Amino acid sequence: MDETSFRNKRGIESEQQSKREFGKSELPLPSPNTILEVLTFPNKKLKQEAVLVENITDSTIHISNIMIDTLKAMGGIGLASTQVGWGERVILTNVSGNDPLIIINPSFEPFGKIKVDSKEGCLSLPGGMAVVSRHYEGTVKGIGLDEKEIEFYINDLEAAVIQHEIDHLNGVLFIDHLSKLKRDIVIKKVKKIKKRMEATR
Ligand SMILES: [Zn+2]
Repeated sequence: MDETSFRNKRGIESEQQSKREFGKSELPLPSPNTILEVLTFPNKKLKQEAVLVENITDSTIHISNIMIDTLKAMGGIGLASTQVGWGERVILTNVSGNDPLIIINPSFEPFGKIKVDSKEGCLSLPGGMAVVSRHYEGTVKGIGLDEKEIEFYINDLEAAVIQHEIDHLNGVLFIDHLSKLKRDIVIKKVKKIKKRMEATR
């Protein structure tokens, strides 16, 4: 796997971001064309588990579309609802760099036991990067915004991104897969970068 493949093109927060934070039941919803603030470590909301979407409501559709704009603005290749403070299980992947795919209630079923090293970064851990062990291949299942079932085979980078984003929905960050020593190194780096970002704001 390309070592830089999972690197976020932009690890810093956008100037245009809305500072608004919201949860599932907190209205009003952000207006269209808003870029959501991506929560960064150690925000406690990143540790929360998102809930299954039982009905795809206008809010689900609205937030999903704004998440697409946010992901594009941030230049990432994946985004989970918990990263923007939204409590429903929704992820986006954009490995191709074209149109992000929205998957509601995503699940990943690995094939076999092959695991690979995945060098990962995260919009919620700006500047942090580490190698995480991920299943090489499997099937992703879920529902699209059109309520149609999604099921397809994925491997390599795409499989790593899906596993990373589903982890977010369970309140798990990539650093949670690391030894304490490696985790502390990443956290130290992130804190340093965040401090620098805040100083230039
Ligand atoms: Zn992430």
